Amino acid sequence: MDSIPAPPPAHGSFRQSVEEMFGHAATLLDLPPGLEEKIRVCNSTYTVRFGVRLRGRIQTFVGYRSVHSEHHEPVKGGIRYAMSVNQDEVEALAALMTYKCALVELPFGGSKGGLRIDPRAWNEDELERITRRFTYELSRRHLISPSQNVPAPDMGTGEREMAWMADAYKRLHPADIDSRACVTGKPIGFGGIHGRTEATGRGVQYALHEAFRHPEAVARAGLSGGLEGKRIVVQGLGNVGYHAALFLSTEDGAKIVAVAERDGAVVDEAGLDIAALKAHLSASGGVRDFPGAQFLADADAALELDCDILIPAAMEAVIHEGNAARIKAPMIVEAANGPTTAAGDKILREQGKFVIPDLYANAGGVTVSYFEWVKNLGHMDFGRMERRREEARHRLLIEELERLSADQNLGWSLSAGFKQQYLMGADELTLVRSGLDDIMRGAFQQMMTVMADDSRVPDLRTAGYMVAVRRIARTYEALGL
Ligand code: GLU
Repeated sequence: MDSIPAPPPAHGSFRQSVEEMFGHAATLLDLPPGLEEKIRVCNSTYTVRFGVRLRGRIQTFVGYRSVHSEHHEPVKGGIRYAMSVNQDEVEALAALMTYKCALVELPFGGSKGGLRIDPRAWNEDELERITRRFTYELSRRHLISPSQNVPAPDMGTGEREMAWMADAYKRLHPADIDSRACVTGKPIGFGGIHGRTEATGRGVQYALHEAFRHPEAVARAGLSGGLEGKRIVVQGLGNVGYHAALFLSTEDGAKIVAVAERDGAVVDEAGLDIAALKAHLSASGGVRDFPGAQFLADADAALELDCDILIPAAMEAVIHEGNAARIKAPMIVEAANGPTTAAGDKILREQGKFVIPDLYANAGGVTVSYFEWVKNLGHMDFGRMERRREEARHRLLIEELERLSADQNLGWSLSAGFKQQYLMGADELTLVRSGLDDIMRGAFQQMMTVMADDSRVPDLRTAGYMVAVRRIARTYEALGL
């Protein structure tokens, strides 16, 4: 059989870029012959063109669902709605899903979908009809299914689209008791899970928390201390960028000194009010004229501003060979998928930047998707059976302490705040956050260990790919492939 040619060392397409990054890591692993290629290539990409009668005529749409690796099933990954959607992009994103899930140890293969559409060009009813039709096309080919392929939100989609998909799937498979597990990112009350909407942004925050627990990582970036007071630039105030910026500024004392959006960037050295900026963006469609901030018409220039941490949270390929050398931030956290091209990455590495790579930094979304999928299959909310039992046991302890104090005249009194917090049994959101934090901490530690143990590993990205690829290779070997 002809072997599939290795990717050219071009810095051209997004897929080539991901393959090149994978290639760096694979050469450092001692993989059996042929396995590297098996893991690298995308297994299949389905292209569908379907018509929907809208506005008095049949409108044709092009959609994709790519399956990169089925070493675990179901395969997992979002569906994006954007005019820029194309096969190369969907395949690159599917590959990233494979590596991301493997790195954070989720039992999923990687997949991704896309519909070439401008979601703002259609009203809600029209989008619903288009989405339901797309779901029908995917379902016919088992490209949406609780056991085989589980989509989720991505750029241009959210819980509304996921609810339409779940409902469309249910109508096609009325006897499937697990039908709700066919997509994740659904609304609460429709099989969704608390904490999913903000999960990717929360994951970015937890990634930074963990990075700052490692003085050697902080030192590699030439930084010191904690997150408090760190000056951060965020590109993109969509779901991921918004939540990351909000949590970092309101909970960790970091300062978001600039935010870049489609129409330009706003800068405020005192730190931007992220909730107010988001409200301004939603109301006006841009960041221009945000009170108290300086406006830069050149949004791309914001990436090159002086700051401690740069968080690209929008599109792919925004850091490339043309601008990488001008990036001043010593630490870059890739909240978006593929924001750095392979060529840009090489320059960042040469300049000693500390990059927290996409396959790790934005894994929070799919991690909480995993919790949602498990919840759907279990048909019960997390914490339902234990919560009150936990509260009762805590109450027992508090009462005993208070009795002891009274009996022995110890004069102890527990503060009201402590008592209230200690007595509260964990609800779903608390458990989701705990699980996400645990997974983010664990994966970071594994990457750091790989880097510390092998001097050939130049950066966290290579380490992340190595952890992921090793894990996938082991699964293939166990499968006898
Ligand atoms: N679209 C998100 C990502 O790129 C989430 C995928 C999922 O939850 O399956 O990671």
